[in-house]
Amino acid sequence: MNEAATWRRCSSCKSPIAFGAQHWVCNVSTCNRARTGLVFCTVSCWDSHLAVVRHRESWALERKAPSQAEWLREQAGLRRASPRRRPSARRAASCPPPPRARPIRSSRTCSSW
Ligand SMILES: [Zn+2]
Ligand SMILES: [Zn+2]
Repeated sequence: MNEAATWRRCSSCKSPIAFGAQHWVCNVSTCNRARTGLVFCTVSCWDSHLAVVRHRESWALERKAPSQAEWLREQAGLRRASPRRRPSARRAASCPPPPRARPIRSSRTCSSW
């Protein structure tokens, strides 16, 4: 199994779900949100999810994982949606004063001495 080809992991058994692979999701909207994003590799994994959450009425929806290219595009889109601007730390390059007491031969040269 190529780790790089893993899209996500099953929310029940943690088996890798490959890009483009068939999988199942819960029909309940709160389980199916992009943030929650529960995915199951088999219907029986979804069944064990039911044992935990006890939905009143629910069923498994068959889905197909995105291809790696699609997924990467999606990730890029998410990053664009929340831009993180990092102010560049601009510090004046200051040179330390030349050592007086002990002359130290240093390979570092400082032009403003
Ligand atoms: Zn599973
Ligand atoms: Zn659910």
